[in-house]
Amino acid sequence: MGSKDMDLIDEDGKRLDGREYDELRPISIEAGVLKRADGSAFINWGKNKIMAAVYGPREMHPRHAQDPSKAVVQARYNMAAFSVPDRKRPGPDRRSVEIGKILSEALDEIIFVEQYPRSTIDVFIEVLEASAGTRCAGLTVASVALSDAGIPMSDMIASCAAGKIDGQVVLDLGKNEDNYGQADVPIGLVPRTDELTLLQMDGDLTEEEYEQAMELAMDACHDIYKKQKDALRERYSTDLEEQEFEEIPQEGIEEG
Ligand code: ADP
Repeated sequence: MGSKDMDLIDEDGKRLDGREYDELRPISIEAGVLKRADGSAFINWGKNKIMAAVYGPREMHPRHAQDPSKAVVQARYNMAAFSVPDRKRPGPDRRSVEIGKILSEALDEIIFVEQYPRSTIDVFIEVLEASAGTRCAGLTVASVALSDAGIPMSDMIASCAAGKIDGQVVLDLGKNEDNYGQADVPIGLVPRTDELTLLQMDGDLTEEEYEQAMELAMDACHDIYKKQKDALRERYSTDLEEQEFEEIPQEGIEEG
């Protein structure tokens, strides 16, 4: 969180991009975008563009990393070199390792990992364009990709952040709000049970502000959950409509 040296909310209470305090950036999700992954999804969230690809469950290598009692969920978060205005040095860094770890732990909560001992479930989260809130968008799209892969889960995780800018609690911080705001609280929610599987906090909030932020973020997660389910519905309905059935050759079939 940076120090405040620019106005983030105008006299009418509108934010830099014209949003209200409780408004999400536009979100669209598409499921099943990659042919060779077992499951995949793509999310456009504000100016974030993120792809998730799922492989597995498959045998874990190296073998010493296997868990005889369950599958190991390995989420890898990667930001492309061209995903930010200044080229990002390619490869893992402390931040991406941290995000991969917290997203793996969150997803481990919803996947029935006990069904696949000695296996790995690999979730690749590739950030193609980044503009604040990528861990939330990444977790949201990864959940859709896991569903698309048909991996047994108790539910999906919907994720978003709330925070504080210009002394006011707002939903879903954009890039400038993230840079010049006072707090950012990303959460991951299991909508069916309202359980939290991710909770982080950058900056400071009073107890009351924290309560407000949680309420905003949890409500928004329920809206995001609808978009996740719509993406899956869309994927499977269009698939059936577009499916081309091969004609059965009639020649050579004997009647009788
Ligand atoms: P999140 O993307 O989950 O909000 P951060 O708060 O760590 O995670 O990052 C906020 C934003 O800062 C990112 O979405 C991205 O736009 C930008 N950012 C992060 N890492 C880098 C980097 N190495 N170079 C340039 N911009 C970055």
